[in-house]
Amino acid sequence: MIELVNLKSQYQKLRTEILEGIDEVISSSQFIQGPFAKEFESHFLKANHSKFGVGCSNGTSAITLALQALGVGSSHEVITTTNTFIATAEAICSVGAKPVFCDIDPQTYTMDTSKIPALINSKTKAIIAVHIYGNPCNMQELQKIAKEHNLLLIEDSAQAHFGKYQNTYIGNFGDAATYSFYPGKNLGAYGDAGFVITKEESTLNTVKKLLDHGRLSKYSHDIIGQNNRIDAIQAKILNIKMKYIFEWNQIRQRMARYYDSVFIPKGIKTMTVYPEGECVYHVYPVRVKNREITQERLKDLGISTGVHYPIPLHLQPAFKYLDYKPGDFPVAEEISKSIMSLPICPEITKSQSEFIAEKFIEVTKNV
Ligand SMILES: *Cc1c(COP(=O)(O)O)cnc(C)c1O
Repeated sequence: MIELVNLKSQYQKLRTEILEGIDEVISSSQFIQGPFAKEFESHFLKANHSKFGVGCSNGTSAITLALQALGVGSSHEVITTTNTFIATAEAICSVGAKPVFCDIDPQTYTMDTSKIPALINSKTKAIIAVHIYGNPCNMQELQKIAKEHNLLLIEDSAQAHFGKYQNTYIGNFGDAATYSFYPGKNLGAYGDAGFVITKEESTLNTVKKLLDHGRLSKYSHDIIGQNNRIDAIQAKILNIKMKYIFEWNQIRQRMARYYDSVFIPKGIKTMTVYPEGECVYHVYPVRVKNREITQERLKDLGISTGVHYPIPLHLQPAFKYLDYKPGDFPVAEEISKSIMSLPICPEITKSQSEFIAEKFIEVTKNV
């Protein structure tokens, strides 16, 4: 079976290094934040050409922390895409704000920036741009809109570590950017972890306080905080994986170029990347007519596939109270019915990717 994400075979390659790293952390008894977290944080920031940032407990808390530190609260609305993992909107709700969803662009699957201005009112405080599937959003347009309407801009970069826009790493465009190191992400821990990058040092200090019981020093709790610190074992693992992330992203990009090159001539709908963008392909989405049968046939041939995502957020039961209805975001709704993801990860061999492409073309011709 060719898996969507193959963490077992990745581990086999890194095993010795990882076990030594974990042993180092446990032997030192520095389990929470501490020197191992610091080492990873500076490594990640330097690699991303960013100045301010801190590790945290997961990608969801990262978004919540960024919103909270930037002053987003219960009187506010936050605009985000309806085509994202639910965590983006959950974070908006957990600071008491109201998520306002936006339809997506039919080619890039990121937020359709032309539809944002109509959603802005006096309560709107921020936009969360999501670089979904690793595909960078139109940051130039988003920055322009944010500036024009005096809105905060946050980049949910959970699926797009080291993606680029206009030759600059994503995460450097917003007032804050957030990352997830969930095991299956392009850069994944062996448990939960996340990261917040901030434009201003003052925002970083607030994030640091919030995630560690309101303090920067041991006994003075300046504000009411929470416990959303990064775990040192996860930070150590991530620091080891940092050595490989650029190579891994390149393999994903190479694989995507190959898939594109065989699918586009066959009329298969693939994802478009903005000319200014450099996608890191957390997933490789394609659109099909009969998704269920296609997935089933591919499974029978030993190819696992996924769907990111079958239900857009505005139609999720959890957001029923927001009163959206089918038809509100026709592009996202249409895409949610036809989109599926093919395996794309560094562990897939060239001959496997050729097999996947060949079988996918064959199957879609016949269903
Ligand atoms: C994974 C993900 C998150 C949440 O990250 P966790 O670490 O699982 O909390 C948020 N946003 C997007 C777009 C994601 O893909």
